[in-house]
Amino acid sequence: MLNPKPSRPPEAASPAAQRLVLGGRVQGLGVRPAIYRLASFLGLAGSVRNTIRGVEIEVEGDAEAVAQFARRLPEFMPAGARIERLATEAIEPAGATEFTIVRDPQNGPLGTRIPADMRVCDDCLREIFDQADRRFRYPFTSCTACGPRYTIIERMPYERHDITMSVFAFCQPCRREYETPGNRRFHAQTNACAACGPEVWSVTASDRSSLRGDDAIRAAGSALRHGRILALRGIGGYQLLADATCEQSVSRLRELKRRRAKPLAVMVHSAAQAQEFAKLDSMELELLDDRSNPIVLADARTDRTLAPSVSSGFATLGLMLPTTPLHAMLASDLQTPLVCTSGNLEGETLAYEIEEAEKDLAGLCDLWLHHNRPIARPLDDSVVRGMDGRSVTIRLARGLAPLALDIEDAPPMLALGGHFKNAVAWTNGAQAVLGPHIGDLDGVACRRRYLDQCEDWQNLYRGSPRYLVHDLHPEYYSTIWAQQQGLPTIGVQHHHAHVAAGMLEHGWLDRTVLGIAWDGTGYGLDGTIWGGEFLIARAGGFERIGHLRPFRLPGGEAAIHAPWRIALSIAAELFGKDEAARWPWGPAASAKLAALLPILDRPTFSPRTTSAGRLFDAAAVFILGREEAGFEGHLAMLLEATADRRASGEYDFPMTSGAPFQLDWRPLFQGLLADRIQGTAPAVMAMRFHRTLARAAVRVWQQRQHLPVVLGGGVFQNRLLVELISEMVPGLQRSSFGRPAMIPPNDGGLAAGQLAVAAAKIREQV
Ligand SMILES: [Zn+2]
Ligand SMILES: [Zn+2]
Repeated sequence: MLNPKPSRPPEAASPAAQRLVLGGRVQGLGVRPAIYRLASFLGLAGSVRNTIRGVEIEVEGDAEAVAQFARRLPEFMPAGARIERLATEAIEPAGATEFTIVRDPQNGPLGTRIPADMRVCDDCLREIFDQADRRFRYPFTSCTACGPRYTIIERMPYERHDITMSVFAFCQPCRREYETPGNRRFHAQTNACAACGPEVWSVTASDRSSLRGDDAIRAAGSALRHGRILALRGIGGYQLLADATCEQSVSRLRELKRRRAKPLAVMVHSAAQAQEFAKLDSMELELLDDRSNPIVLADARTDRTLAPSVSSGFATLGLMLPTTPLHAMLASDLQTPLVCTSGNLEGETLAYEIEEAEKDLAGLCDLWLHHNRPIARPLDDSVVRGMDGRSVTIRLARGLAPLALDIEDAPPMLALGGHFKNAVAWTNGAQAVLGPHIGDLDGVACRRRYLDQCEDWQNLYRGSPRYLVHDLHPEYYSTIWAQQQGLPTIGVQHHHAHVAAGMLEHGWLDRTVLGIAWDGTGYGLDGTIWGGEFLIARAGGFERIGHLRPFRLPGGEAAIHAPWRIALSIAAELFGKDEAARWPWGPAASAKLAALLPILDRPTFSPRTTSAGRLFDAAAVFILGREEAGFEGHLAMLLEATADRRASGEYDFPMTSGAPFQLDWRPLFQGLLADRIQGTAPAVMAMRFHRTLARAAVRVWQQRQHLPVVLGGGVFQNRLLVELISEMVPGLQRSSFGRPAMIPPNDGGLAAGQLAVAAAKIREQV
């Protein structure tokens, strides 16, 4: 590496030329500048361009150098890039005398990956905190290794004139950096400085007074320090920030945002500060530091705590590092951890346009910090969790989306996901991707955003779907919409899609697996609500070999927020209605008991379900004495947090014979209630309940040991459950244990599985 030019024999140089096409994660990461450097280093002429096939390179020069070029390519790739395909062919030398980066327009379906947004890098951070640097405190500092990507791309390939920053013309120094090989901003499409780039300004809610530039940033810092709430325009939209150590500010933010129970994420200025408030293992620290910059869920410390309203009773904290230089400046100016949550009312869409934010967030914040770098598409923050030694995506969004999927030979299709935590997946025939978290498709605004994304993707990836893939639930908005479009549709059963998402994750789409799909709600083939399912599944089909013993959901969906209803139905089945009524219920249940008891066995009011999520809810009511839930899965999360891993014992959870078999929860709850009556600690009962469910899953697998197992569904966001199953798996079987990972196990990953199933069904028809 010391010698900038390779030694060439003066006379024997034989000219040669080669074309190379790179596929994979190779755009928007500084790959072309890196290729330029390698070509210059080897003294080669030619060109590099982004094409729909990938990054296309032509090099010519002496034969040995041309051969070296292909060999040394991997070592010159920037961090974050990944070459998944490399095709080479010999071509005729064209007589080029220099190496150039070429830009040209493209048509046809896009074959290259769309780059994801990246957290500000250490080099850029150094500059913004260096008084002598020309980018001192410039909030939009970025380079080829960091900055926004997916949220600012208007068209691919990724070039300056096709991103929202094209409205900012380079100043002389920025242009020089952009054009100078060897500069770390050589072909950095987001390059900018205070003289030529985007700027920030603040607007005070009370009197509409406004400040610009660094004055605005300092005013925002001062407002936070005084307990105010800041609405900050980030990479993918607005976020609401408040001092995480100030109970008054945080509880006010909760109240205004109408976020009652879910924990709030916290931004810290460094990993060291994160460790003051949470116990992070090495993998969690790695996730925190990752360029994708997710919110990392970790166990909170008990010796050093934030304002109680941050985690509202949960033992976990969601932490993240500053995303942009703007976040980094605020975090560093204040030195205090900051609550950082989506800029919206709970359940509404994320505000990302300036006017929208001033309207939607009026009354939710004291100050806006706007900027004029247009956002091409809104994007929330990602959430991940370390589980059994790997990262599991809980919410796929900024930094992680779009997620590349390994689905080949499928015609253009759009998979529409489910209803809750919706996300869509898409293949344009050249590549397949899973999109970011959109939200529950309940409100008009959310549905509009959902349709916007479906359309945006067709433009961005260039293509239109030949099939629409949907859930079987006839009342889901996504199902109804699919059926109105006049395109061929493919329905995919909910739990089959969860299992297929896991098969896709592990590269097992060509195999038969045992799928364990445990979630809250999914429409079954028999029209009932499934959710505790054991499937023998291929990509193209499945057989339901077993499930939880069904139980009734008094009042249907209402039971999600009132889990005591499920507990009541379980108790009634165990001991009869009269005895169940005598259980020492709390105020919520007692008030409605008389109304509920008569409808317990009426199918119209109390539909049957096999939902594992709801079984967790019922157990949590008995173990924790809580009767109501602020959101779906709330009590299950508390139950997981309560469990003491050191506690021994488990309950009886027998499997019936027959097909499909049933896991009978009656002995389980008899044991649990006996524990409760004896005054056993909730931490012990919670642990026993988790171990019982893990054991049941492993027992079913042991009967079908020849098959790999795949875990799918929202219940497997539960770290304790997954790790217990993992501990029970014999060493020999570990390679066929399909744990959740990059594709969210919850409904955010459903569309990926739908796409895989639909592709297989189409293949099988041909
Ligand atoms: Zn950078
Ligand atoms: Zn500039």
